[in-house]
Amino acid sequence: MRLQGLFFATSLQTLGASTSVDQGAAKACRLLKESLPELVYFPGAAQYVNDTAHWAISSQQNATCSVEPQSADDVSTIVKIIGRSDVRAPFAVRSGGHAYNLGQSSTPGVQVSLTQFTNISYDAEKETVKIGMGLTWAQVYEYLEPLGVMVAGGRINPVGVGGLSLGGGYSWKTNQYGLTIDTIVAHELVLPTGEQVHVTNSSYPDLFFALRGGLNNFGVVTEITYEAHPQTLVYGGLTTYATDNEAIALLNSAASKFSLKSTDPKAQMIVNYASVNGEFIAQTLIFYDGPTPPAGVYDEFLAIPSVSTNVRTSTFREFMASSEGALSADAFGVAQHAIPITKYTVPVLEEMIAQVTAFGQRLTEQNNGSSILVVVQPEPFYQPFTHSHGGAYPHSSDRELTPACPFIVYSANASDPLDVQQARHDYFVSELRNFTHLIQAKAVEEGVSRWDDILYPNYALVDTPLELVYGGNVPRLRRMAAKYDPERLMTLTGGFRFLD
Ligand SMILES: Cc1cc2nc3c(=O)[nH]c(=O)nc-3n(C[C@H](O)[C@H](O)[C@H](O)COP(=O)(O)OP(=O)(O)OC[C@H]3O[C@@H](n4cnc5c(N)ncnc54)[C@H](O)[C@@H]3O)c2cc1C
Repeated sequence: MRLQGLFFATSLQTLGASTSVDQGAAKACRLLKESLPELVYFPGAAQYVNDTAHWAISSQQNATCSVEPQSADDVSTIVKIIGRSDVRAPFAVRSGGHAYNLGQSSTPGVQVSLTQFTNISYDAEKETVKIGMGLTWAQVYEYLEPLGVMVAGGRINPVGVGGLSLGGGYSWKTNQYGLTIDTIVAHELVLPTGEQVHVTNSSYPDLFFALRGGLNNFGVVTEITYEAHPQTLVYGGLTTYATDNEAIALLNSAASKFSLKSTDPKAQMIVNYASVNGEFIAQTLIFYDGPTPPAGVYDEFLAIPSVSTNVRTSTFREFMASSEGALSADAFGVAQHAIPITKYTVPVLEEMIAQVTAFGQRLTEQNNGSSILVVVQPEPFYQPFTHSHGGAYPHSSDRELTPACPFIVYSANASDPLDVQQARHDYFVSELRNFTHLIQAKAVEEGVSRWDDILYPNYALVDTPLELVYGGNVPRLRRMAAKYDPERLMTLTGGFRFLD
C-alpha cells in the first residue's frame, strides 16, 4: 500500500465470495426484471460490477441483482416491488459507494444504484443548482466551474453527492455557508410507499427536517436543489512536513492556533497524522476561498520545514485535484469513526500523534507483511454550525463541534471467505474503538469534548447508539419514520435505523 497525499482514490474490486441467495431477493430480482427489463443486472454484467462497487471492500457485498432506475417513476416501481408482502427483499441504495460501513449502501439482496441520475442544471436567476444523485462531487465541480459558481459539497472528488448531502456534509465552504444540508433548498423524494414528493421547508417541513442528516431512512432521493455561491480562484494545497520533533512541535502549535484563533470564514484546513506501515507522516491540506490569503493566516504553516508541497493559487478544481493521492493496494478495508471536538489544543494534537504512532507500530508488527494505515485527521472549523437550519443531525450553534476523523485502512484479500474477511474487519474495528477512545479521553480531559457529544452520521460506526448520532431528535425521527414508512420498508436496508 503506497500513500501519496492526504486522501486517496483507488480502483475497486468486487467481493470474492458469494452470499447465500435470499428467497425474497431472488423473487424481487425476477419481478424487477419483468417490470424494468432494461434496467436490471446480474453478476457478470459490467453494470452490476459498477452498481455494487464500493470505495472499501469492507463496505461491499455481492447483491443478488442490481437495478439502475432512470426516473422517479422507476424508483416508485422498485420500492413497491421490494416492499410487497410476498417479497420483502433486503436492499440498499447506493449513490457514490463511499459509505464506511457494511450494509449502509450494500446488500446481499437488491442493489439500487442511482448511477443514471446524472442530471445537473444551474438556475442563474435563482442562484441554485439541481443535481442528480448519481453524480460524484468531481462531476458537479466540473460542470459548475466554467459557470463561476460552486456549491458547498464534498472535500474529496470521488465521493457521491447522495450520501454526503443526506448525512451532513462538511465542505470547504462550511465556515462560510454551513454544512451541505444547510445549503439545500429542495429534495425530490420517493417515499417508501412509492409516492413522489417535492420536499421544501414549506411543502413538507417535517421531511425537510428529516432529510437533513437522516440518510436512507425516509426513502430514495433522486435530485437535490442546492444554493450556488460565486467562485473565484482559490489558494491552497497539500504539504508533507519533516517529522523531526522541532517540525512537529511547530505544526502542532500552528494547527492549534488556527483552531483556537482563526476567525476568517474563508480559511479552512485539515491536518493529517498518519502511520503508514509504522512510519509516521504529518500533512496539512489548507484551503483559502480566494486567490490570496491575508497575511498571517497560513504563515506559520508555510514556515515549517516540509518535504513536499503543492500550495498555490489555482482554480477550485485544480485545488481539489491537488489533494488526491493514490492507494495502490488491490483492495482495502476501512474502519472509520468520529471524535467530536470543539477546539484542538496542543495536548490533544500531541495525544493524537502518540496514539497514531503507538497503534501504527503495533498493528504493523502484529500484521506482518500486510499494509496498515492508522490515521487521525483533525478538522478545525470556525463556527461550522452558525448557518445551521437544524435537521435530523443535531448541529446547533450552541455547541460548535468538529468531527476529527480517526480511521484504519488495512489491505484485504477479496478472495478470502466472507467470514475470514469479517473477522479481520472486526479486529480492526475493535482496535479503532480503542484508538478513538484514548484520543477522546484526552479531549475530554482538556475540556474540548464530552462523552455525550454528537457523532457525525457520515463518519460514525454504524452500531453507535442512535442517541449519540441524532441526540434529542430520535423520538421525533422515529415518529416520522412510522408515519412515512407504514410498511417499514426501510428496515430492509442497513445503516442507522429509526424503525426497529
Ligand atoms: C474518501 C472520502 C472522503 C470523504 N470526505 C468527506 C467530506 O469532505 N465531508 C463529509 O462530510 N464527508 C466526507 N466523507 C464521508 C461521506 O460523506 C460519506 O461516506 C457519505 O455517506 C458517502 O456518500 P456516497 O453517496 O458516496 O455513499 P453511498 O455509500 O452511496 O451512500 C451512503 C449512505 O447514504 C445513503 N444514500 C445515498 N444516496 C441516497 C439517496 N439518493 N437516497 C437515499 N439514501 C441515499 C445510502 O443508502 C447509504 O446509507 C468522505 C468519505 C470518504 C470515503
